[in-house]
Amino acid sequence: MAPRFAEYGIPVPLKHDRSNKIFHALKKQFPALKETNPENLPDISFDDLRLAHDLDFIARLFDPSLVAHEIKCCYEYEQLLSAVKNIDEMPADVITQCRGTYASIQKALDQGSSFFLGGGMHHAMSFAGRGFCLLNDIVIGARKAQRELGVSRVLIIDVDAHKGDGTAQILQRDDSIFTLSIHMKNGWPLDGSLGSGPWELPSDLDIEILPNQESQYLELLESGLKQTLKQPFDLGIIVLGADAWENDELPSASGIKLSDKQMLKRDQLIEKSLSSLNIPRAYVMGGGYGQHAHIPYVNFLSELLD
Ligand SMILES: [Zn+2]
Repeated sequence: MAPRFAEYGIPVPLKHDRSNKIFHALKKQFPALKETNPENLPDISFDDLRLAHDLDFIARLFDPSLVAHEIKCCYEYEQLLSAVKNIDEMPADVITQCRGTYASIQKALDQGSSFFLGGGMHHAMSFAGRGFCLLNDIVIGARKAQRELGVSRVLIIDVDAHKGDGTAQILQRDDSIFTLSIHMKNGWPLDGSLGSGPWELPSDLDIEILPNQESQYLELLESGLKQTLKQPFDLGIIVLGADAWENDELPSASGIKLSDKQMLKRDQLIEKSLSSLNIPRAYVMGGGYGQHAHIPYVNFLSELLD
């Protein structure tokens, strides 16, 4: 489901086949699984984008003379490589991700839980895309659910190795959506070179993992969830980044190295904590880099679907 970055000449190490690998691995175990046709996903309108983003930024994304600059800043490189698609088609591809996340939210509210094989663009700020994330599908989905689906209070749990800084920035004055982010303390923003800025705004609860603190990860997450879940929530959106895994290949995610077992326990802990309180769970993918990035998702989803 992820945009095929190489088609736009963008050298991002996020493999577009990650979602396909997950789907095909699960399909072997659960033959009844069906792919959703992207054409059948709910629409995300211009007004929906405004739920998370400034008017100026959205206007730049739809201006053919400005969009390439926005995308280069977001995906952190100078020059586009040779491309087979025009760069100004890319925002529509990213909006498809937002549509998938919102479909996952609708399904979760309907049937208890749902997993979208895409989305989780948690670095996108209100005023610009950042860190491989152009639009914040998480905030758009949460606020659209509040506006249209009778949802009142939302909990966003972000377990990607990197802090959900865009989500925290957009929601800094929103008491109806609680943000919990557990992430590596060092290494984001990359080497701190960006200095202080809106990416440093706190989530409602930040749990920072120090180098070599992996053995305490699950305990810290469990206590954060317990504390948070004293409040009532109508919906949980979980950014289930796989880049906290020890075999992830992105150098800037190496500040947390959870084993296969720890990753599975992490995901099960979230599922159990929310399902025991009957809070609907909409999962989205977040980061996860390299040839084997599908494996932690397959491990969790095999158990969830069983
Ligand atoms: Zn990440």
